[in-house]
Amino acid sequence: MTTPSDSPSLPRAIIDLAALRHNVARLVQLAAPAEVMLAVKANAYGHGLLPVARAGLEAGATSLAVLEIPAGLLLRDAGITVPLLAWLHGPQTDFQAGIEADIELGISALWQLDAIESAAANRPAVIHLKVDTGLSRNGASLEDWPALVDAALALQEAGVVRIRAAWSHLADASIADDEAALAEFERAVAVARERGAEFEILHLAASSAGIRMPEARFDLVRFGIAAYGISPFDDTSGAELGLVPVMRLEAPVTEVHLDGTTRTRLAIGFGDGVPTLGVAKASVFLNGARRPIVDIGVDTTVIDSGNDRVRVGDTAVVFGPGLDGEPTAEKWADWAETIGDEMVTGVMPRVQRVYVG
Ligand SMILES: *Cc1c(COP(=O)(O)O)cnc(C)c1O
Repeated sequence: MTTPSDSPSLPRAIIDLAALRHNVARLVQLAAPAEVMLAVKANAYGHGLLPVARAGLEAGATSLAVLEIPAGLLLRDAGITVPLLAWLHGPQTDFQAGIEADIELGISALWQLDAIESAAANRPAVIHLKVDTGLSRNGASLEDWPALVDAALALQEAGVVRIRAAWSHLADASIADDEAALAEFERAVAVARERGAEFEILHLAASSAGIRMPEARFDLVRFGIAAYGISPFDDTSGAELGLVPVMRLEAPVTEVHLDGTTRTRLAIGFGDGVPTLGVAKASVFLNGARRPIVDIGVDTTVIDSGNDRVRVGDTAVVFGPGLDGEPTAEKWADWAETIGDEMVTGVMPRVQRVYVG
């Protein structure tokens, strides 16, 4: 007998925290003696901020990268006490709340130092000075860097900030680009030291350089996508790197039509984050085999299940670890001409996250 509780009618993302801990432990071992800062931005790449943060810390990450201060405040409210780094600030950013919650701040521009000074928090802001080494997304340009360093030193003298780190972010476009950016980073650090700055730590690498460029690891690596079991490289899979995909996206069968071939309808669609660009090539895994996708609508996906027996309430796997024959998020990224990051982060909030492991 099927009841609503044992045959779900909605899609679910099963988050395997044992897989996450496995990946983080592997990255901790790889990066040592550099420490691991786990990137949990964008709701932990769609996996859920708090459960991922806790599991990552259990597995050996020693700090968390949160992107913006409000996400850091959520972690603090949940009792997480490790160092947190937030670096995306805007005109509405509440620096005072961030500083008083001991959230460390990535600083790219003079206006951010001015805002920290005006925030008049009851303790010095711990700051990581960010230089742009070619990504041109965030970070002081090499021309603006000396003035940023001088202003930070003046505020440190006044007890408003404590300079903890110098850092940058790599474009990961090619090894040659990353090597050029590494050399620029080292020059910028030398410039700052000549002006009197001292850094407790330096950090540069995310997943890609953290895995393939040991000289870019410095004191810590900010690992994101690799921790979720997805490769940062086009030519190497997560499995080849010893990583296990953490998210498994499932959808129940809601309708079966027998008319020569079996058209089966699944309760998931682009409104849940399944990319329509994948429709021509994509398949899902259902009852022991891959089934080609025929159509993706806002809340349903039609698949062709051939002449096989399929019943309402059976569960299709859209993507998962790939161990039983289901596609991976990396495979979907190929089909939909995107990256694995977008596949998992794009799973909408309406899809229930279920934690296992
Ligand atoms: C997202 C992000 C990371 C993690 O990047 P991955 O490539 O996912 O490992 C690290 N540092 C910064 C500044 C980021 O924005």
